[in-house]
Amino acid sequence: MMPVWYSTPMRITPYGAAQVVTGSCHLVEEGDYKLLLDCGAYQGSEDDRNQEPFGFDPATIDAVVISHAHNDHIGRLPILIRRGYKGKVHLSEPTAKFLPVILEDSLKLMSEEAERLERKGKKAPTPLWEEADLEELYRRLEPVPLYQDLAFGPLTARLHGAGHLPGSAFVQVNSKDKRLIFSGDLGHKGKEVLEAPTEATPADLVLCEGTYGDRSHKPFSETMAEFARILNDHLGRGGKVFIPSFALERTQEILFHLRELETQAKIPVVPVYVDSPMADKISEIYPQVKNYFSTEVQALYNQGIDPFRPEKFDHTHSVEDSKALNTLNGPLVIIAGNGMLSGGRILHHLALGLPGEDNAVIIASYQPRGGLGQLLIEGNESVKIFGDVVPVRAKTYTLGGFSGHAGQDELLSWLSGESKIALVHGEPDKLQALSRALSGQGKTAWMAEWGKAIEV
Ligand code: ZN
Repeated sequence: MMPVWYSTPMRITPYGAAQVVTGSCHLVEEGDYKLLLDCGAYQGSEDDRNQEPFGFDPATIDAVVISHAHNDHIGRLPILIRRGYKGKVHLSEPTAKFLPVILEDSLKLMSEEAERLERKGKKAPTPLWEEADLEELYRRLEPVPLYQDLAFGPLTARLHGAGHLPGSAFVQVNSKDKRLIFSGDLGHKGKEVLEAPTEATPADLVLCEGTYGDRSHKPFSETMAEFARILNDHLGRGGKVFIPSFALERTQEILFHLRELETQAKIPVVPVYVDSPMADKISEIYPQVKNYFSTEVQALYNQGIDPFRPEKFDHTHSVEDSKALNTLNGPLVIIAGNGMLSGGRILHHLALGLPGEDNAVIIASYQPRGGLGQLLIEGNESVKIFGDVVPVRAKTYTLGGFSGHAGQDELLSWLSGESKIALVHGEPDKLQALSRALSGQGKTAWMAEWGKAIEV
């Protein structure tokens, strides 16, 4: 009998991030060999999907390759191991260092939520994974260099810099006669902290993200000019500027630009506080992975300068430190989590700061529909925080240019040499807009579907 596997070409099947922005997880198969790209958690309104079956048997997976350390690309790894995965997890050195910070935070949030339910007399659901699964995951981590071919059975894979986080990658997978590229998350090119994404090599199929598939970002210099103008205006009046921010990358990037604007004398030097223990942990890792930053950042490190430290920088250690910030008068800047305003210390600062008319809130990250961030952006005169009505006299500004994702024009340019593109990691309207733009250039582009295999 003819061996069936021999005639089966490489294929890829999305088991997450199909017409949604979270849960990145894609299975590459060549014959009997199974290589999993990413194993991310669903987040926000898709959260419940984490408990569902993967759509494949974790015990049959031969190897895992991870694109970057965001939770929606790594968050289901402990579940994969708990459900029978026996192999290694290949990832860049920075991703391996950031991963424990991200997943230990998830573990903490899970146990806090269980405690909250128990206090209310409700039964907490059985946790999807526990500390022991995480410990096992740590034993399986296999840091690998970028730009080197790695052998996986009949396939070779190579990580290329994606400019989205330090050590973030897109993944090129070659079989004997086909090439597949998985974009991971592609960075926003104009920014200064990270290098722009590496050019893609021509491939038979690209599985590409489309988070910002429907719009292009303003030039980053405009974002910076606006950032400086807002800071001057509010700090000049003695106000407090609150920046809700993610712990990984966005917080440090904002610190970088505050320092840069200070050294260029474009903004006054004022106290800058980071009120996020998780952001502190990430910042401690940064000097260990300095080779993964832009040449500009590396040059500062080489001069003995911390590129992520404004002149009057301070950070809180305890909840008491955090509360003590409330007693301080402006001008000052407070950066705190979480970035989506769905919880965290930022809420305490806003509850006290929103009534002050000299104060400002700068939204530098994605805000979910209907969330507090959205209400502030819409200009509501009052909002509810911890059940209390808080009058809003502070001004809210949105700086979309800080986005960590490529805009539509950058995606089109990155895909310029490609002809067959399946789109993932985006809301359907964003992916449709990108698909139309690509089709307009004579390419074959479509939205990938969950569980539906695509032949490379
Ligand atoms: Zn990401």
